[in-house]
Amino acid sequence: MTKKRPLEIILCAPRGFCAGVDRAIQIVELALEKYGAPVYVRHEIVHNKYVVDGLREKGAVFVEELDEIPDTDAPVIFSAHGVPKSVPANAKERKMFYLDATCPLVSKVHVEAQRHFDEGKEIVLIGHAGHPEVIGTMGQLPDGAITLIETVEDAEKFEPKSPDDLAFVTQTTLSVDDTAAIVAALQKRFPSISAPHKEDICYATTNRQEAVKQVAPHVDAMVVVGAPNSSNSMRLVEVADRAGCPKSGLIQRASDIVWSDFEGVNKLGISAGASAPEELVNEIIEKFGEHYEITVSTKVTAEENIAFNVPRELRA
Ligand code: SF4
Repeated sequence: MTKKRPLEIILCAPRGFCAGVDRAIQIVELALEKYGAPVYVRHEIVHNKYVVDGLREKGAVFVEELDEIPDTDAPVIFSAHGVPKSVPANAKERKMFYLDATCPLVSKVHVEAQRHFDEGKEIVLIGHAGHPEVIGTMGQLPDGAITLIETVEDAEKFEPKSPDDLAFVTQTTLSVDDTAAIVAALQKRFPSISAPHKEDICYATTNRQEAVKQVAPHVDAMVVVGAPNSSNSMRLVEVADRAGCPKSGLIQRASDIVWSDFEGVNKLGISAGASAPEELVNEIIEKFGEHYEITVSTKVTAEENIAFNVPRELRA
Protein backbone atom coordinates (compact mmCIF):
# COMPACT_ATOMS: atom_id res chain seq x y z
CA MET A 1 0.00 0.00 0.00
CA THR A 2 1.38 3.45 -0.88
CA LYS A 3 1.87 5.78 2.02
CA LYS A 4 -0.53 8.76 2.04
CA ARG A 5 0.96 12.23 1.70
CA PRO A 6 0.62 14.42 4.82
CA LEU A 7 -1.85 17.32 4.76
CA GLU A 8 -2.25 19.83 7.56
CA ILE A 9 -5.80 21.16 7.84
CA ILE A 10 -6.57 24.37 9.72
CA LEU A 11 -10.24 24.87 10.49
CA CYS A 12 -11.41 28.46 10.78
CA ALA A 13 -13.62 29.19 13.77
CA PRO A 14 -16.24 30.58 13.79
CA ARG A 15 -17.52 28.96 10.60
CA GLY A 16 -20.81 27.60 9.32
CA PHE A 17 -24.27 28.05 10.79
CA CYS A 18 -25.19 31.40 12.33
CA ALA A 19 -28.05 32.14 14.72
CA GLY A 20 -30.33 33.40 11.91
CA VAL A 21 -29.90 30.27 9.81
CA ASP A 22 -30.30 28.03 12.83
CA ARG A 23 -33.56 29.80 13.74
CA ALA A 24 -34.92 29.64 10.18
CA ILE A 25 -34.32 25.88 9.93
CA GLN A 26 -35.84 25.36 13.38
CA ILE A 27 -38.94 27.26 12.27
CA VAL A 28 -39.49 24.88 9.33
CA GLU A 29 -38.78 21.79 11.44
CA LEU A 30 -41.02 22.90 14.32
CA ALA A 31 -43.80 23.86 11.89
CA LEU A 32 -43.60 20.40 10.30
CA GLU A 33 -43.75 18.80 13.76
CA LYS A 34 -46.63 20.94 14.98
CA TYR A 35 -48.81 21.23 11.87
CA GLY A 36 -47.65 18.26 9.77
CA ALA A 37 -46.74 18.30 6.06
CA PRO A 38 -46.97 20.15 3.83
CA VAL A 39 -45.38 23.32 5.08
CA TYR A 40 -44.79 25.86 2.30
CA VAL A 41 -41.55 27.83 2.25
CA ARG A 42 -41.15 30.91 0.09
CA HIS A 43 -37.64 30.79 -1.42
CA GLU A 44 -34.85 28.46 -0.18
CA ILE A 45 -35.12 28.84 3.59
CA VAL A 46 -31.32 29.27 3.61
CA HIS A 47 -28.98 29.06 0.63
CA ASN A 48 -27.88 25.45 1.00
CA LYS A 49 -29.09 22.58 -1.17
CA TYR A 50 -28.32 19.92 1.45
CA VAL A 51 -30.46 21.72 4.03
CA VAL A 52 -33.26 22.42 1.54
CA ASP A 53 -33.30 18.81 0.26
CA GLY A 54 -33.40 17.50 3.86
CA LEU A 55 -36.41 19.69 4.70
CA ARG A 56 -38.10 18.78 1.41
CA GLU A 57 -37.85 15.11 2.36
CA LYS A 58 -39.60 15.91 5.66
CA GLY A 59 -42.49 17.58 3.83
CA ALA A 60 -41.48 21.19 3.15
CA VAL A 61 -42.59 22.49 -0.25
CA PHE A 62 -40.36 25.25 -1.64
CA VAL A 63 -41.80 27.92 -3.93
CA GLU A 64 -40.44 31.19 -5.24
CA GLU A 65 -43.68 33.19 -5.01
CA LEU A 66 -46.92 32.90 -3.05
CA ASP A 67 -48.99 32.50 -6.23
CA GLU A 68 -47.49 29.01 -6.59
CA ILE A 69 -49.24 28.00 -3.34
CA PRO A 70 -52.84 26.78 -3.57
CA ASP A 71 -55.43 28.12 -1.10
CA THR A 72 -54.44 26.28 2.05
CA ASP A 73 -54.49 26.24 5.86
CA ALA A 74 -50.92 24.91 5.87
CA PRO A 75 -48.25 27.27 7.24
CA VAL A 76 -46.32 29.43 4.81
CA ILE A 77 -42.80 30.37 5.91
CA PHE A 78 -40.75 33.29 4.61
CA SER A 79 -37.01 32.64 4.27
CA ALA A 80 -34.21 34.02 6.48
CA HIS A 81 -33.33 36.63 3.84
CA GLY A 82 -36.47 38.70 4.44
CA VAL A 83 -39.29 39.67 2.10
CA PRO A 84 -40.70 42.87 0.59
CA LYS A 85 -43.74 44.23 2.50
CA SER A 86 -45.96 43.19 -0.39
CA VAL A 87 -45.41 39.50 0.50
CA PRO A 88 -46.97 39.46 4.01
CA ALA A 89 -49.64 41.85 2.68
CA ASN A 90 -50.49 39.37 -0.06
CA ALA A 91 -50.45 36.47 2.43
CA LYS A 92 -52.89 38.38 4.66
CA GLU A 93 -55.20 39.07 1.74
CA ARG A 94 -55.20 35.37 0.94
CA LYS A 95 -55.81 34.58 4.64
CA MET A 96 -52.67 32.47 4.75
CA PHE A 97 -51.18 31.40 8.05
CA TYR A 98 -47.62 32.62 7.72
CA LEU A 99 -44.52 32.42 9.87
CA ASP A 100 -41.69 34.83 9.24
CA ALA A 101 -38.19 33.28 9.39
CA THR A 102 -36.50 36.56 8.43
CA CYS A 103 -33.31 36.82 10.48
CA PRO A 104 -33.79 39.41 13.25
CA LEU A 105 -30.59 41.10 12.03
CA VAL A 106 -32.15 41.58 8.58
CA SER A 107 -35.36 42.86 10.23
CA LYS A 108 -33.18 45.37 12.11
CA VAL A 109 -32.05 46.79 8.73
CA HIS A 110 -35.70 46.96 7.58
CA VAL A 111 -36.60 48.93 10.72
CA GLU A 112 -33.68 51.31 10.18
CA ALA A 113 -34.65 51.95 6.56
CA GLN A 114 -38.24 52.65 7.63
CA ARG A 115 -37.06 55.05 10.35
CA HIS A 116 -34.89 57.01 7.91
CA PHE A 117 -37.81 57.15 5.48
CA ASP A 118 -40.18 58.40 8.20
CA GLU A 119 -37.63 61.12 9.01
CA GLY A 120 -37.75 62.20 5.37
CA LYS A 121 -34.25 60.98 4.51
CA GLU A 122 -33.10 59.74 1.13
CA ILE A 123 -31.79 56.21 1.56
CA VAL A 124 -28.87 54.35 0.01
CA LEU A 125 -28.66 50.57 0.32
CA ILE A 126 -25.21 49.07 -0.15
CA GLY A 127 -25.70 45.54 -1.47
CA HIS A 128 -25.82 43.16 -4.43
CA ALA A 129 -28.58 43.59 -7.02
CA GLY A 130 -30.90 40.62 -7.26
CA HIS A 131 -30.01 39.06 -3.89
CA PRO A 132 -33.25 38.18 -2.04
CA GLU A 133 -32.18 40.19 1.00
CA VAL A 134 -31.72 43.30 -1.18
CA ILE A 135 -35.11 42.71 -2.84
CA GLY A 136 -36.64 42.36 0.65
CA THR A 137 -35.02 45.51 2.04
CA MET A 138 -35.83 47.64 -1.02
CA GLY A 139 -39.38 46.33 -0.81
CA GLN A 140 -39.88 47.77 2.68
CA LEU A 141 -40.44 51.20 1.15
CA PRO A 142 -42.21 52.61 -1.89
CA ASP A 143 -40.47 52.27 -5.26
CA GLY A 144 -37.71 54.85 -5.69
CA ALA A 145 -37.26 55.50 -1.95
CA ILE A 146 -34.03 53.47 -1.82
CA THR A 147 -31.10 53.67 -4.25
CA LEU A 148 -28.93 50.56 -4.51
CA ILE A 149 -25.18 51.08 -4.56
CA GLU A 150 -22.97 48.10 -5.33
CA THR A 151 -19.48 49.54 -5.82
CA VAL A 152 -17.19 52.46 -5.02
CA GLU A 153 -17.78 53.69 -8.60
CA ASP A 154 -21.54 53.71 -7.95
CA ALA A 155 -20.89 55.76 -4.80
CA GLU A 156 -18.74 58.21 -6.75
CA LYS A 157 -21.38 58.67 -9.45
CA PHE A 158 -24.43 58.78 -7.18
CA GLU A 159 -26.47 61.97 -7.61
CA PRO A 160 -28.88 62.21 -4.66
CA LYS A 161 -31.95 64.41 -4.68
CA SER A 162 -31.24 65.47 -1.07
CA PRO A 163 -27.44 65.44 -0.56
CA ASP A 164 -27.77 66.96 2.92
CA ASP A 165 -30.40 64.52 4.09
CA LEU A 166 -29.01 61.10 3.27
CA ALA A 167 -28.76 57.84 5.17
CA PHE A 168 -27.28 54.47 4.29
CA VAL A 169 -28.04 50.90 5.30
CA THR A 170 -26.33 47.74 4.05
CA GLN A 171 -26.95 44.11 3.22
CA THR A 172 -25.92 41.93 6.19
CA THR A 173 -23.61 39.56 4.33
CA LEU A 174 -21.24 41.88 2.47
CA SER A 175 -17.47 42.00 2.43
CA VAL A 176 -16.46 44.07 5.45
CA ASP A 177 -13.55 45.65 3.55
CA ASP A 178 -15.44 46.41 0.31
CA THR A 179 -18.26 47.95 2.29
CA ALA A 180 -15.86 50.13 4.28
CA ALA A 181 -14.46 51.47 0.99
CA ILE A 182 -17.96 52.24 -0.35
CA VAL A 183 -18.95 53.92 2.91
CA ALA A 184 -15.73 55.99 2.85
CA ALA A 185 -16.52 57.13 -0.71
CA LEU A 186 -20.05 58.15 0.34
CA GLN A 187 -18.87 59.92 3.50
CA LYS A 188 -16.23 61.82 1.55
CA ARG A 189 -18.86 63.23 -0.80
CA PHE A 190 -21.69 63.52 1.74
CA PRO A 191 -20.14 64.10 5.19
CA SER A 192 -23.53 64.37 6.92
CA ILE A 193 -24.81 60.99 5.67
CA SER A 194 -26.39 59.01 8.56
CA ALA A 195 -24.82 55.63 9.29
CA PRO A 196 -26.40 52.66 11.08
CA HIS A 197 -26.17 52.91 14.91
CA LYS A 198 -24.64 49.48 14.92
CA GLU A 199 -23.01 47.93 11.85
CA ASP A 200 -25.54 46.29 9.48
CA ILE A 201 -23.05 43.63 8.35
CA CYS A 202 -23.91 40.95 10.88
CA TYR A 203 -21.69 39.43 13.55
CA ALA A 204 -21.62 36.07 11.72
CA THR A 205 -20.41 37.56 8.44
CA THR A 206 -17.81 39.67 10.22
CA ASN A 207 -16.48 36.82 12.38
CA ARG A 208 -16.27 34.30 9.52
CA GLN A 209 -14.41 36.81 7.34
CA GLU A 210 -11.99 37.65 10.14
CA ALA A 211 -11.19 33.97 10.78
CA VAL A 212 -10.52 33.39 7.07
CA LYS A 213 -8.39 36.54 6.91
CA GLN A 214 -6.19 35.25 9.72
CA VAL A 215 -5.79 31.71 8.37
CA ALA A 216 -5.53 32.42 4.63
CA PRO A 217 -1.97 33.86 4.58
CA HIS A 218 -0.63 30.70 6.28
CA VAL A 219 -2.12 28.02 4.02
CA ASP A 220 -1.55 26.89 0.43
CA ALA A 221 -5.27 26.64 -0.31
CA MET A 222 -8.58 27.54 1.31
CA VAL A 223 -11.79 25.60 0.90
CA VAL A 224 -15.05 27.36 1.76
CA VAL A 225 -17.92 24.96 2.28
CA GLY A 226 -20.98 26.66 0.85
CA ALA A 227 -23.20 27.33 -2.12
CA PRO A 228 -22.55 29.76 -5.00
CA ASN A 229 -25.83 31.59 -4.28
CA SER A 230 -24.77 32.14 -0.65
CA SER A 231 -23.50 35.71 -0.46
CA ASN A 232 -21.48 35.24 2.69
CA SER A 233 -19.82 32.05 1.36
CA MET A 234 -18.77 33.84 -1.82
CA ARG A 235 -17.36 36.70 0.24
CA LEU A 236 -15.23 34.23 2.25
CA VAL A 237 -13.60 33.04 -0.98
CA GLU A 238 -12.81 36.65 -1.92
CA VAL A 239 -11.44 37.37 1.55
CA ALA A 240 -9.11 34.35 1.30
CA ASP A 241 -7.90 35.47 -2.14
CA ARG A 242 -7.20 38.99 -0.98
CA ALA A 243 -5.47 37.81 2.19
CA GLY A 244 -2.88 36.17 -0.04
CA CYS A 245 -4.04 32.57 -0.24
CA PRO A 246 -2.77 31.18 -3.56
CA LYS A 247 -5.91 29.09 -4.22
CA SER A 248 -9.37 29.34 -2.77
CA GLY A 249 -12.74 28.07 -3.83
CA LEU A 250 -16.19 26.91 -2.84
CA ILE A 251 -17.03 23.27 -2.33
CA GLN A 252 -20.62 22.20 -1.75
CA ARG A 253 -20.11 18.48 -1.07
CA ALA A 254 -17.18 16.06 -0.72
CA SER A 255 -18.08 14.63 -4.12
CA ASP A 256 -17.21 18.03 -5.69
CA ILE A 257 -13.55 17.90 -4.68
CA VAL A 258 -11.25 18.00 -7.71
CA TRP A 259 -8.13 16.25 -6.42
CA SER A 260 -5.80 17.71 -9.03
CA ASP A 261 -6.54 21.17 -7.53
CA PHE A 262 -4.77 20.09 -4.34
CA GLU A 263 -1.52 18.85 -5.86
CA GLY A 264 1.33 20.55 -4.04
CA VAL A 265 -0.95 21.71 -1.21
CA ASN A 266 0.56 20.90 2.18
CA LYS A 267 -1.53 23.19 4.35
CA LEU A 268 -5.24 23.60 3.77
CA GLY A 269 -7.61 26.07 5.43
CA ILE A 270 -11.30 25.17 5.72
CA SER A 271 -14.19 27.50 6.51
CA ALA A 272 -17.92 27.36 5.85
CA GLY A 273 -20.53 29.96 4.98
CA ALA A 274 -23.29 30.79 7.46
CA SER A 275 -25.77 28.51 5.68
CA ALA A 276 -23.47 25.44 5.49
CA PRO A 277 -24.05 22.74 8.11
CA GLU A 278 -21.14 21.22 10.04
CA GLU A 279 -22.03 17.73 8.64
CA LEU A 280 -20.78 18.94 5.27
CA VAL A 281 -17.53 20.23 6.77
CA ASN A 282 -17.01 16.85 8.46
CA GLU A 283 -17.84 14.98 5.26
CA ILE A 284 -15.20 17.01 3.39
CA ILE A 285 -12.56 16.52 6.10
CA GLU A 286 -13.22 12.76 6.04
CA LYS A 287 -12.80 12.72 2.28
CA PHE A 288 -9.45 14.51 2.58
CA GLY A 289 -8.56 11.90 5.22
CA GLU A 290 -9.11 9.13 2.69
CA HIS A 291 -6.60 10.72 0.32
CA TYR A 292 -4.04 12.23 2.73
CA GLU A 293 -2.56 11.61 6.15
CA ILE A 294 -4.35 14.56 7.76
CA THR A 295 -3.75 16.47 10.96
CA VAL A 296 -6.51 18.88 11.93
CA SER A 297 -6.25 21.95 14.15
CA THR A 298 -8.61 24.90 14.71
CA LYS A 299 -7.85 28.60 14.67
CA VAL A 300 -10.39 30.33 16.90
CA THR A 301 -10.66 34.07 16.29
CA ALA A 302 -13.96 34.79 18.08
CA GLU A 303 -16.47 33.10 20.38
CA GLU A 304 -20.15 33.24 19.46
CA ASN A 305 -23.05 32.66 21.81
CA ILE A 306 -25.96 34.29 20.00
CA ALA A 307 -29.32 32.53 19.63
CA PHE A 308 -32.67 33.89 18.44
CA ASN A 309 -36.12 32.81 19.62
CA VAL A 310 -38.51 31.16 17.20
CA PRO A 311 -41.92 32.87 16.68
CA ARG A 312 -44.39 32.61 19.57
CA GLU A 313 -46.64 30.17 17.71
CA LEU A 314 -43.86 27.58 17.68
CA ARG A 315 -42.62 27.89 21.25
CA ALA A 316 -43.39 24.90 23.44
S1 SF4 B 1 -25.71 35.63 8.05
FE1 SF4 B 1 -26.18 37.16 9.61
S2 SF4 B 1 -27.99 38.24 8.85
FE2 SF4 B 1 -27.81 36.32 7.67
S3 SF4 B 1 -29.06 34.87 8.78
FE3 SF4 B 1 -26.99 34.69 9.61
S4 SF4 B 1 -26.95 36.07 11.41
FE4 SF4 B 1 -28.72 36.60 10.15
